[in-house]
This record gives sequence, C-alpha cells and structure tokens, in this order.
Amino acid sequence: MSQDTAAVWFRRDLRLDDNTALYHALQSGLPVVPVFIFDKHILDELPEKDARVSFIHEQIHSLQKFLAEAGSSMVVKYGFPEEIWPELVDTYHIKKLYINHDFEPYAKKRDQEIEAILSEKGASTHFFRDHVLFEKEEILSNSDKPYTVFTPYGKKWRASLNQDRLRSFPSETLMEHFFSSTSVSIPSLEEMGFNPSDIPIPPSIFDKDIIRIYDEKRNFPAQKGTTRLGIHLRFGTISIRKLARVAVDLNDTYLNELIWREFYMQILWNFPHVVLGPFRPQYAEIPWNENEEMFQKWCDGKTGFPLVDAGMRELNETGYMHNRVRMLTASFLVKDLLINWQWGERYFAEKLLDFELASNNGGWQWAAGSGTDAAPYFRIFNPESQMKKFDPALHYVRKWVPEFGTPLYPRPVVDHKEARLKTLSVFKEVLSNR
Ligand code: FAD
Repeated sequence: MSQDTAAVWFRRDLRLDDNTALYHALQSGLPVVPVFIFDKHILDELPEKDARVSFIHEQIHSLQKFLAEAGSSMVVKYGFPEEIWPELVDTYHIKKLYINHDFEPYAKKRDQEIEAILSEKGASTHFFRDHVLFEKEEILSNSDKPYTVFTPYGKKWRASLNQDRLRSFPSETLMEHFFSSTSVSIPSLEEMGFNPSDIPIPPSIFDKDIIRIYDEKRNFPAQKGTTRLGIHLRFGTISIRKLARVAVDLNDTYLNELIWREFYMQILWNFPHVVLGPFRPQYAEIPWNENEEMFQKWCDGKTGFPLVDAGMRELNETGYMHNRVRMLTASFLVKDLLINWQWGERYFAEKLLDFELASNNGGWQWAAGSGTDAAPYFRIFNPESQMKKFDPALHYVRKWVPEFGTPLYPRPVVDHKEARLKTLSVFKEVLSNR
C-alpha cells in the first residue's frame, strides 16, 4: 500500500465506541489503521495461564469482527513495541499516531520512546485523555499541588465536573474512515506461550439496579451489591464517561468510588515512587516478618480466620474479591502477620482480573498505613467483628470455606489480640523515632 495513513494504538481502551484517540484519528482525514501489540515486555512476566491475557485476546477477536464488518482489520502483533512500530510506520506509511494516555511508569517511558522513534521517521504522535475524567495535574489544590488526601480531592473533582467532561466521543459513528483491508490474522494464545484460561469474566453491562442501591448493599460480600466492572474499566472495554453519567444520575456513593479510582491514578502519575515502596518513607523501616510459610497460608486461605480465608479462596478461584474483604485480607497480612504489604500487593497483582497498578498499590498502602490517604497505623481490622458485621449469616464464609465449623478447618495461625498489640508496638517504635 502506498497511501498515507493514521494509526490508533489500542492499549487500555479496547473498544470502538466513545474512544477519544480513535475519534480524533477517524476525523484526521487519513484512513485509520487500528493496531494492537501483545507486548512481550509485559507478557514475559506473566504465568502461562492468565485470565487477563485470555480476556484481551477474546476482546481483540471481537473488535476484529466489528472491523471486518466495516471492511477493515486490526493489525495485531506480538513482540516489543520499539521494534514493531518502525516496521509498521514503513509498511502502512503512517504519518500520525493517535494514543490514549496510560499513567503507569512503564507505559510513560514506552510512549516517550515510541514518540521519539516515530518523530525520527517523520510521523507525529497525538495523546488524549480517555481512561479517566480528570487526569495527571488536572485536579490540583489551591496552591497548585497534587492532592494527597482523598476528601478535598473528591470535593474539587466534583466541583470541576461538568457536561463537557461527561460528553462522549462517538468514534462508532465514523467507522467508514478505517483503512480498507481484508482480515489480518491474530497470533494465537499458544503461539505467545499462553494457555486459555477457564475463569469466567463478569459481563460488561451497567446493572442499573445494583448502582441505584449501591450505598445500601456494597459492603456485604454475600450479596450482589457491586458492579464487577473493574476488569472492563481496566482494559477500557467500557467507557468511563458513559459509566460516570449513569453514576451521576443514580448513586452518589457509586460515583465516589469512581473518584477513588481517579484519585489513585493521579497519585501514581504525580508520585510514581509509590510503585517501588511506601509513599511515606519512614514506613520502609518497619522490620517485617519474612515468614514465607505464614504468607503461603494467607495466600491459600488457610489462616483459620474464616472471612480472611473466604476472601483469599474467592480470589484464587475467580480472580475477584469483594472490596470489604480486600480491605480485611490486606489488613490481616500486614497487621496480624506483620508481613510486608508489598508481598500482598504482588499476589493480588498476579490474581486479580481487575488488577490496576494505581488502585492496587493505593489499596495496599492504605491498609498498611504507609500511603497518601492512609488509615492510621493504629486502626486495625478485627477479623471476627468484620465477619459479624458484614457476613452475619455466614453465607459468604460457607460458600468459600465449606469445611468451616468442622475439625478439618485450621486453627487460627495467630491470636488476633496479641498480634495487634505486637504490631502496634513495632509500628510505634519505628514511627516515633522519625
Ligand atoms: P464496584 O464497587 O462496583 O465499583 C465500581 C468501580 O469503581 C470499580 O470497578 C473500580 O474501578 C472503582 N473502585 C471502586 N472502589 C474503589 C477503590 N476503593 N479504589 C479504587 N477504585 C475503586 N481496584 C481495582 O480496580 N484494581 C485493583 O487492583 C484493586 N486492588 C485493591 C487492593 C486492595 C488491598 C484494596 C483494599 C482495594 C483494591 N481495589 C482495586 C479497589 C476495590 O476493591 C475494587 O475496585 C472493587 O472491589 C472492584 O469491584 P467492583 O468492580 O464490583 O467495584
């Protein structure tokens, strides 16, 4: 082909509707080549059965089907982006590349590198906000600093929200501007060293009945009180603008959770050191218990604390864990077992379907007390009272821990009261010396 083109690089925005970069590309006047890269820098780190990779693969097939109906095709590659892009630019005569922002440190570096490679070849790169309503430094305090506490951030976020922010970018109405092509093949999972996963993925529907009464039901893990849209927000298989419009109309508590997501995203952008260690440096001095056997019991859901074990088993089996139980299991690992929060962070990152670096890191640092808007270290979840309050009929516990109440169920690995006192004294000693 010899005609100049524009390209769109799909990453965490795997949809054709209301996609900002795609919308602008389709209006560029150039035929648009849609591109997806199975990035070896990321995939090489993952286990061979990874439900998220299977999900992405299915999603690419589904986009391919829609593109075929529009007489086009996604160009799907497997390899290193810095090697693939120069080839693509030459093959497709790409003059402009359109991409939506990604806030993770690796993505930031990668995108700068690709922009430089393209620039050398005479092509320009155009970036857009798509994954969140407010990004980077768009919500700042009155002294022009990024917020590190959620409540004032949330207030400013709400005050800044207007119809324009919530407006969609109807890329789906411009499908005739894709470049014409017959379907190009997609590398199979096996060719990339993966096996298909059999973990089911929650549907991408906005269940308005759940959202409407979200504030009443969201804390009870046995009930279907949350939307399970995490994986779809992570990979952009739904539009945040469409979801936020529903939240604004139906439930303020639900909207607040979407704001938490953006809060952590801007923390990651403005304070990228959180990926490597505690936001508050003094927490790096905590003398953690490096007990791998105890950690394994936590991972396997065999601590003898039923709500903790139920959560870990739900995670291991389904790739999901209810937020209330995420908070408890995280608190238990850090405050009862005195194990480094980063071990737990890594385990969740490997298992969660909705794993999002910013929210996972934020959630773990919150639980450890080391984060921006952290729970103070002396606030320690009591596994027993959490169970009584949030799973009073034990429906959730019995579902995931069927041997609970029989001699087969393990005895508690620690005494909660003693563990709590020990943690308080360890944290106090380290933190009072700073
Ligand atoms: P719903 O309750 O229906 O909420 C809708 C969406 O809002 C979620 O899908 C999510 O995108 C966002 N959201 C809700 N609560 C939060 C929150 N507290 N912080 C940030 N975003 C939120 N969330 C992730 O998306 N990815 C993670 O890797 C992740 N790891 C976590 C680790 C720990 C230790 C803790 C305590 C929380 C973590 N969370 C994470 C936040 C929260 O637990 C999940 O977003 C939520 O449980 C996902 O279920 P849902 O899709 O049914 O959410």
